[in-house]
Amino acid sequence: MIKIEDYASVVGQATIDELFALARHLEGKDIQNINSTAVGGGVAEILTRMIPLLKELGVHARWDVIKGNEKFFVTTKKFHNGLHGVPVEISDEELEDFLEVNRENAKEMNFGDIVFVHDPQPIALIDVRETLGRSWIWRCHIDFSRPVERVWEFLERYIKKYDTAVFSAPAFARRLPIKQVLISPSIDPLSDKNKELSSDVVDEVFNRFGIDRSRPVITQISRFDYLKDPVGVIKAYRLAKKRVDMQLVLAGGGATDDPEGAIVMEQVQHEAEKDKDIFALFLPPASDIEINALQRGSTVVLQKSLREGFGLTVSEALWKAKPVIAGAVGGIPLQISHKYSGILTHSIEGTAHAIKQLINEPEYARKLGVNGKEHIKNNFLITRHIKDYLLLFISLFHKEDLVYL
Ligand code: UDP
Repeated sequence: MIKIEDYASVVGQATIDELFALARHLEGKDIQNINSTAVGGGVAEILTRMIPLLKELGVHARWDVIKGNEKFFVTTKKFHNGLHGVPVEISDEELEDFLEVNRENAKEMNFGDIVFVHDPQPIALIDVRETLGRSWIWRCHIDFSRPVERVWEFLERYIKKYDTAVFSAPAFARRLPIKQVLISPSIDPLSDKNKELSSDVVDEVFNRFGIDRSRPVITQISRFDYLKDPVGVIKAYRLAKKRVDMQLVLAGGGATDDPEGAIVMEQVQHEAEKDKDIFALFLPPASDIEINALQRGSTVVLQKSLREGFGLTVSEALWKAKPVIAGAVGGIPLQISHKYSGILTHSIEGTAHAIKQLINEPEYARKLGVNGKEHIKNNFLITRHIKDYLLLFISLFHKEDLVYL
């Protein structure tokens, strides 16, 4: 069981003391997080780590997951794609259904003093606020720098009803009549996904999947989602492989709120069947040690997203001092400074070129990884994230005191 004090070994005791001092200002406040899946994807990943640590700090934090049927999640996936700029058709009936599921969930919920709503799926819970009068925050983890207008207009009606909106990157801020706050996500350096592993554990995982560690391995860990571009990754691998030997690992699972995963996975598997050096691995939930080992044991880690709210997998790999090649989209440029702490790409060809370069120039690749790790340590660890959230929560209760904190 990891304790908050254990993080002192990574970030220093003063940081931990500061968190305790801030947490005292929230005594007696009930902080409720709401999202739409308990496993799979970055939001669940963060909440799983964040809630126990907040509790240890003495904050009354909790986490509820809304219930939805298949139709609801098809609609919310359309929102997700539409906010990412993918053309989608959403009928009035689907929108009405979406609202009805939110209303049903609202009836069963015991709302906190702060209602911290993550992403669009539960966004319309805010419709009950008139009768409850609490502080409502909408936390957006999505890259919506170029949203489809109809989706944006629909969601904007609800966003406006919140007190505050939190975004992951400056590029996502939009004209809104409410307060906007920028808070980047984070990774937990002591979790099973990110803690140090012995080389025996890494070897065991590679052996189990039949991957040869004596040859270069390039890896992308992601939900199977079009916007993670696994097929683009395969194309880049094929181009690069004309010049350099390597194996490709595409590993991931689904999320309960993502109905498209199975179709994308099938496409990837179809491609993998043609090439024994492509490993399409379906990972069940709780594969943290496997993901950790795959990232640690890879020569290069990829995150060739076409859109990305933040891209926790980038921080995860950089924390392991791995050279990372990633799409220059959404929150990824916050994590990678091009050619200093990783490589940012805009195309399949660019990705292929970077793969060849990093495999051929291990010293350069090593430097990128070392710089990347330092950057993550300074900016994207969970302790910084907790501090930002505590300050945000406090600001909702003690507007006049904040200056003295
Ligand atoms: N992840 C996981 N299992 C999988 C695929 C991904 O645990 O099969 C984790 C991954 O390690 C990362 C998170 O889920 O911690 C994905 O977050 P990210 O921000 O990269 O993307 P999202 O899925 O939220 O779009």
